[in-house]
Amino acid sequence: MRRIVVLGGGVTGLALGFLRNRCPAPGDDVLILEEGPTPGGTVRTIREEGFILEAGPVSLRTTPASDRLVEALGLSDDVLVADPRAPRWIVRGGRARRVAPGPSILLGGALPLAARLRALAEPFVARRPADLADESVHDFFERRFGPGVARWGAEPLVSGVWADDPRTLSVRSAFPALWEAEGRAGSVLRGLAAAPRTRPRRTISFRGGLGALAEGLAEQGVRAGVRIELDAEIAGIEGPFDGEGNGGVWRVQIADGTVYPADTLVSTLDAPAFAEALGPRLPRSGARLAALPYSRLAIVLQAFRTESPGAALPGLGLLVPRGEGLRSLGVLYLSSLFPSRVPAGVALTTSFFGGALDPSAPDLCESDLLRLAEAEVRRLHPLLGPRLHGRTLKWPSALPRLPVGHHETLRLLDADLDDLNAGRERPRLVVTGTWRDGLGLGNRIARAEELAPLL
Ligand SMILES: Cc1cc2nc3c(=O)[nH]c(=O)nc-3n(C[C@H](O)[C@H](O)[C@H](O)COP(=O)(O)OP(=O)(O)OC[C@H]3O[C@@H](n4cnc5c(N)ncnc54)[C@H](O)[C@@H]3O)c2cc1C
Repeated sequence: MRRIVVLGGGVTGLALGFLRNRCPAPGDDVLILEEGPTPGGTVRTIREEGFILEAGPVSLRTTPASDRLVEALGLSDDVLVADPRAPRWIVRGGRARRVAPGPSILLGGALPLAARLRALAEPFVARRPADLADESVHDFFERRFGPGVARWGAEPLVSGVWADDPRTLSVRSAFPALWEAEGRAGSVLRGLAAAPRTRPRRTISFRGGLGALAEGLAEQGVRAGVRIELDAEIAGIEGPFDGEGNGGVWRVQIADGTVYPADTLVSTLDAPAFAEALGPRLPRSGARLAALPYSRLAIVLQAFRTESPGAALPGLGLLVPRGEGLRSLGVLYLSSLFPSRVPAGVALTTSFFGGALDPSAPDLCESDLLRLAEAEVRRLHPLLGPRLHGRTLKWPSALPRLPVGHHETLRLLDADLDDLNAGRERPRLVVTGTWRDGLGLGNRIARAEELAPLL
């Protein structure tokens, strides 16, 4: 019998369990250990007061793997697709300015004219020196596109996507497509233009919210034979032991003292939790992973009365650079993203506070956060009616802060894993996570699909 124990029951762990057990080999046993009371990790849909609200991710950018998974779960009829032409906004000079997605941002009014002109010269900027192995997102944008784009484009992009500081975040690890485009073509714009066309990605959710994905994965995983233990915090891991007999290669102990034997361990944990559990077996990378910082976020979900949701909040949402007199990093317009599941005459917003550039914001108490979020949303959208509902949520370890040179930590981890798995037909330890394989649910599912057959 082969025992596979998955550490962490977020979407990645659940997808791995479900995909691994769709066609189980005889005797396979897949167990997911999750410290929280519900499966899904950061994906958490709150259904209250007649509203469908998202505590974490609000949408999924599809990949071919996520399309296949949604279909396999029988969720295709519940998919809601956001309008790809819906505008996005950046605040500059106190006004929300419309931005086109991707490189077209360089043409619109979101950037000052001088910044746009400099940015359009990017294809003529010298290629990076051969010995430059990585740099911060800020330095990369400044070198390639000029200081205006670094200030008005990179900073809100980094806040909105990674909740991080562009002066410390690694461009190579956080935005590999941009880094590689320059590496291939000597210019980001030329490299992106020459990249092979892939199927356009859609921004989706479900009628019942993104939680439907986690619920579907958990239910159907269990039906396929996956065991899911909730409230199962990893307390310690022993091993690897020789011989894949009854005792297992690993023994995983959870907080209530129960010990689970495993032949293959799959970690989907955040880096510090992974390093705490397995660091001593990772002589090269364990200490670096234990020290990887995470950003903290506070989120305020609000519902406002409005005569017409689309008119009050046009588009997907807006990003706020620092120095604009607003504390929110950004506001998402949930009711404009997926209007069909919002009651008529209601606008739903999600305001984000904190991140690396405002680390104390999540310390604000609930009533202060609610007041601040309401005042800032009203300043941007003065026509909104009375607030019908508001609630706050805090993410103490929201997203990893990948420092310049993070790829070197990952190289050391690979060397540690090579040692642990050398000469084995099936790996003893498999590791994935946003900090290793990238951000976004569509990518996390793609990684789960790649790993499932290897376990
Ligand atoms: C506020 C926020 C908004 C986001 N918005 C989006 C979005 O709109 N679209 C998008 O694609 N992505 C978004 N992301 C990123 C997305 O949520 C993640 O990329 C994705 O959910 C990661 O899934 P995962 O399963 O790999 O990790 P997680 O969801 O973090 O799952 C890891 C699991 O491990 C468990 N765990 C941790 N330590 C232990 C332990 N010691 N013992 C047992 N279990 C443990 C955790 O409880 C958790 O359930 C957002 C993230 C945040 C924080």
